[in-house]
Amino acid sequence: METVAQKPKYNLNEEQEKKLILREYRALLRCLKTRLKPGDRRLLRHAFEMAADAHKSMRRKSGEPYILHPLAVARICVEEIGLGVRSTICSLLHDTVEDTDISLDDIQREFGSEIAKIVDGLTKISNVIDVNASQQAENFKKILLTLTDDPRVILIKLSDRLHNMRTLDSMKQEKQLKIASETVYVYAPLAHRMGLYNMKTEMEDLSMKYLEPDTYREIARKLSETRRERSRFINEFIKPLKDKLDTTGLDFEIYGRPKSIHSIWNKMKKKGVAFEEVYDLFAIRVILNAPPEREKEDCWKVYSMVTDEYNPSPERLRDWLSNPKSNGYEALHTTVMGPNGKWVEVQIRTRRMNEIAEKGLAAHWKYKEGNNEENRFDKWFNQIREVITTQDIDSVDFLSDFKRSFLAEEIYVYTPKGDVKMLPVGASALDFAFSVHSQVGSKCIGAKVNHKLVPISHKLRSGDQVEIITSGKQKPTEDWLNFVVTAKARTKIKDALKEQKKTIAEEGKYTLQRKLEAIGAALNPHNVEELMNHYKLGSALDLYYGIAVKSIDLKDLKEFKVIGDRLEIPKPEKVHLEPKPAHDPAKIPHKDTELIIFGESSDKIMYNLANCCKPIPGDDVFGFVTTGKGLTIHRTTCPNAAKLMANYGHRIVKTKWAKNKEISFLTGLRIIGMDDVGIINKITNIISGDMRLNISALTIESTEGVFEGSIKLFVHDKEELEELVGRLLSLNGIHTVERFETDTAA
Ligand code: MN
Repeated sequence: METVAQKPKYNLNEEQEKKLILREYRALLRCLKTRLKPGDRRLLRHAFEMAADAHKSMRRKSGEPYILHPLAVARICVEEIGLGVRSTICSLLHDTVEDTDISLDDIQREFGSEIAKIVDGLTKISNVIDVNASQQAENFKKILLTLTDDPRVILIKLSDRLHNMRTLDSMKQEKQLKIASETVYVYAPLAHRMGLYNMKTEMEDLSMKYLEPDTYREIARKLSETRRERSRFINEFIKPLKDKLDTTGLDFEIYGRPKSIHSIWNKMKKKGVAFEEVYDLFAIRVILNAPPEREKEDCWKVYSMVTDEYNPSPERLRDWLSNPKSNGYEALHTTVMGPNGKWVEVQIRTRRMNEIAEKGLAAHWKYKEGNNEENRFDKWFNQIREVITTQDIDSVDFLSDFKRSFLAEEIYVYTPKGDVKMLPVGASALDFAFSVHSQVGSKCIGAKVNHKLVPISHKLRSGDQVEIITSGKQKPTEDWLNFVVTAKARTKIKDALKEQKKTIAEEGKYTLQRKLEAIGAALNPHNVEELMNHYKLGSALDLYYGIAVKSIDLKDLKEFKVIGDRLEIPKPEKVHLEPKPAHDPAKIPHKDTELIIFGESSDKIMYNLANCCKPIPGDDVFGFVTTGKGLTIHRTTCPNAAKLMANYGHRIVKTKWAKNKEISFLTGLRIIGMDDVGIINKITNIISGDMRLNISALTIESTEGVFEGSIKLFVHDKEELEELVGRLLSLNGIHTVERFETDTAA
């Protein structure tokens, strides 16, 4: 739902608009042309007219006629995923049931139940964009449930989201942040998992454009500045390979592909390096046109030629020809030493494999015919279905569990009999045990991995052969939750712990009953309630359990009055726990707020700065409403931000810094450079001399001529911090200066 009654921002008259819509429709038909069967054209026309008529009075935020959105979504489905006529019809109709007078019955009547079912799935999950939806996770769960019915629902949903991301400019900032976070948190990984690499990359880049606009623009600018240099290197690298391949008579294409902005940024963050050290990372692709029976052979032939020319890194050979990834990806990857001593990744695959890599699932179906190997997607869907239907845990937990176990890349391990099991990266022997059977999991005491004895927490690697050792006496414990990453194992362990607690609590209940009777009271709901209040417990189970494990001492039962068989609670203790004051890095008085808060009220509001990301004025920030503590200000780049925005969109408040030079904020800088006489002096001179900033702590460690310093200091805003970083970098011998959050380091 992104409609609004608003005048068009662009000036097309009605006639021109009609023409534009028809032009888009005809373009869509052209994309489908080769696939149209008799009767399809009529059905498509019908769907288009029905949707156009239903949306006729609606406009998008940009002012465009609404129907252009379903048309664009349909176009993405056809062109970028390779879906067919039925999916196109569903795309055209995807917002009608939700937003217009058209009902599901109408669609069922006009187009039959297959299409009605898909549109229904899309309608059920279409309110994900609604800011007021309280639990995004709940919506996500719905998406997955629909996904397991018919994967086309999720493919169309992804196209819908991609188009919304492409047109996000006309939305308000809060919505941009929320939609972008949700996209990077949920939809991009989902697209990746479906094998839609191009879509995943575009979603990530677009999200970053809104979540971290400065960094995004900076990297984009630098990328375009270095384009020529990069293509020179690529050409130089490709030339000898091309010449060699030409002599073989193979039908091939070879080209270089730069990394996406988002992946460059990820690399920079992960490795803690500057743009200059990663920007020239790219992959060289060799795409072969080979008949099915020669695919593997020809790929290896190319591999052999590449490695004749350039020296390969022995650890960096990835053979996804023999063992495709579960999302269908097949290719041969190797990393070789190129000119100037640079590592370059070379990806070798056939045209068929390339289509699967780019269009994912749909292409997979296309080639699947006549192949009776069990579809990997079916396996994946089955796993999801199993997890969704066996758990009732709360949704936020569900979402992170799900992400951890299904969206992560997977490893392949073997049972003693040689069967392959797929597990997410990071899975332990215990995860493996639970994947065999929940009884094997809960009795697991260790494992033999490649015939060596290992503890249950042992992390597995692809290719391991795993044998589980069990004992009848074993029972799951709380710390097992730290050893597992799969949703199945977590759920089963939690269930087992709950069961154990119930059994132990039974004893506590019996103890309580005896004690109560001893003072003339009864074990009745009123008394249990009084005791829960007295001990500040949330449930009777906690009360009984506490008594059983003796964390609750029933001695003070004496202080209760007994009237009839009812207890009366004693006067509350004098010690009243003050709520902990919000952490305040720079002792900023709260009344002196320097944030302007755009929301229901423009009054100054109590706020505090998030500990996880330590924002300072000038950072891109947002406010998160916390119960009882007012607003917490996070940076939009905070590691928790995406999760907060995706799960609690309704609690996000747009915030902006006002200019204020009176208050300073604690932040940290890590400096790496060559040890040099007087370098510390020079650094401190700049900080406290030139810039007049206060240093709160300074540590310098030096090993073999390289020093690493960390400085905590007070700055007024980001601008000032940036100036300082610039000045420090201009010192001789300084290599990197980077900001860190003051709690997490040093
Ligand atoms: Mn839509």
